[in-house]
Amino acid sequence: MLDFSLSAENIAWKEKIKLFVREDIVKHPHLDNHGSFPRELYQKAFELGIITCMIPTEYGGQGKTLLESALAAEECAYGDLGFTTSAFLMRLSIAPLLYYGTEEQKQKWIKPLTESLKFASFCFTEPEGSTNLGSRPASTIAIETEDAYIINGTKWTISNASVASLYLVFARIEGENSGLTCFVIPREAEGLSVSAPYKKMGQRAADTAEVKFENVKIPKDNKIGRQGEGAQIALTSLRHSRVGIGAMALGVAQRARDLAKKHCHERLNGEGKPIIYEQDIKFRFAEIEAKIEMLRSFVYRGIWEMDNGKKATFFSSSVKLLGAQIANEVVQECLDLHGGKGYLEESLIEKLVRDTMLLRIYEGTEAVQKLLIADSAIRLPRELRS
Ligand SMILES: Cc1cc2nc3c(=O)[nH]c(=O)nc-3n(C[C@H](O)[C@H](O)[C@H](O)COP(=O)(O)OP(=O)(O)OC[C@H]3O[C@@H](n4cnc5c(N)ncnc54)[C@H](O)[C@@H]3O)c2cc1C
Repeated sequence: MLDFSLSAENIAWKEKIKLFVREDIVKHPHLDNHGSFPRELYQKAFELGIITCMIPTEYGGQGKTLLESALAAEECAYGDLGFTTSAFLMRLSIAPLLYYGTEEQKQKWIKPLTESLKFASFCFTEPEGSTNLGSRPASTIAIETEDAYIINGTKWTISNASVASLYLVFARIEGENSGLTCFVIPREAEGLSVSAPYKKMGQRAADTAEVKFENVKIPKDNKIGRQGEGAQIALTSLRHSRVGIGAMALGVAQRARDLAKKHCHERLNGEGKPIIYEQDIKFRFAEIEAKIEMLRSFVYRGIWEMDNGKKATFFSSSVKLLGAQIANEVVQECLDLHGGKGYLEESLIEKLVRDTMLLRIYEGTEAVQKLLIADSAIRLPRELRS
């Protein structure tokens, strides 16, 4: 039987995060300032178990399920998308270790991330691009010596790069035509440097910077998975994370709806009545609400498929694609419902529009999601094959 209800435990966890978000995030517009990395908020998020929520308990994490992580991401995204991006990045950045690392590697690299507030980065994108990195030779190169790998190259637009203590890096082995290989590199490795954080259009509470590797020597034990297995490792890691972007889309869409609702209750028509009672405005809210609830159902279905289904890639990419599209439609409609006020910097809704655009770009653009979805979408059913 289908059941969309949340357990008492799920509800309690969601409520705990909601309280934190309403008290500590919603009231803080300074999160939109350039260069603001609100460390005290991340510290609180760590203490509440948000940052390490997806790390299994045997490595010191909270051992939350994908659904619980999504519920928390939805609540945090209601507060601030940039904060949510940085706070939930652990889900993606340690995935290579969780799914492909040896027990020894997990103990060595994951456990310290749970002992105090720490960050890890997922370094895939290069200045030459990310979309085609699976099919073109990577410019980040690992030279294999007798006892080590020497890494050279640059990874750019990397979330949490300037605050990370650990980097999961995808590189090509020099002289091999074996695609990507994944490595774990600690911050203190000699030759590793990080740029100043970028000034971004939105999501300014998230840290994003460039990481440079200049003759960075790492032991052979720092290789994750098999040589040439990097593309598969990245795909698996992103698959688990992308469904979370749907949850973030759900959170930001609800914040935009609430802001627009407040504005339309306060704005009066010619007869002195709130414009929210105009039929056109009511219909627009009806559509917004329907889209939000459709997205909620799809996010839950996507999570269920990740846990139980066979079409995990199809569902995670579909949730990411449609979640980002729906959230962008909703926040833009909500800006429109604010009239001219929505276009002013002083209104929060313009920030939400800027923040939400990134949902379409990072962890793979729409083109990437469509390529992943298309594989199964164009398959001809057996009964139609001639
Ligand atoms: C704030 C921020 C944070 C980020 N965090 C991280 C991070 O933590 N780790 C990380 O590795 N990356 C990160 N990224 C990078 C992000 O994932 C990439 O920017 C994104 O995947 C798009 O890749 P690209 O910028 O290289 O675009 P490109 O690959 O240059 O693509 C440009 C455009 O062309 C289209 N395109 C390119 N190739 C094709 C094709 N073959 N077919 C059809 N269309 C195509 C794309 O869809 C896109 O619209 C971040 C980016 C930003 C802005």
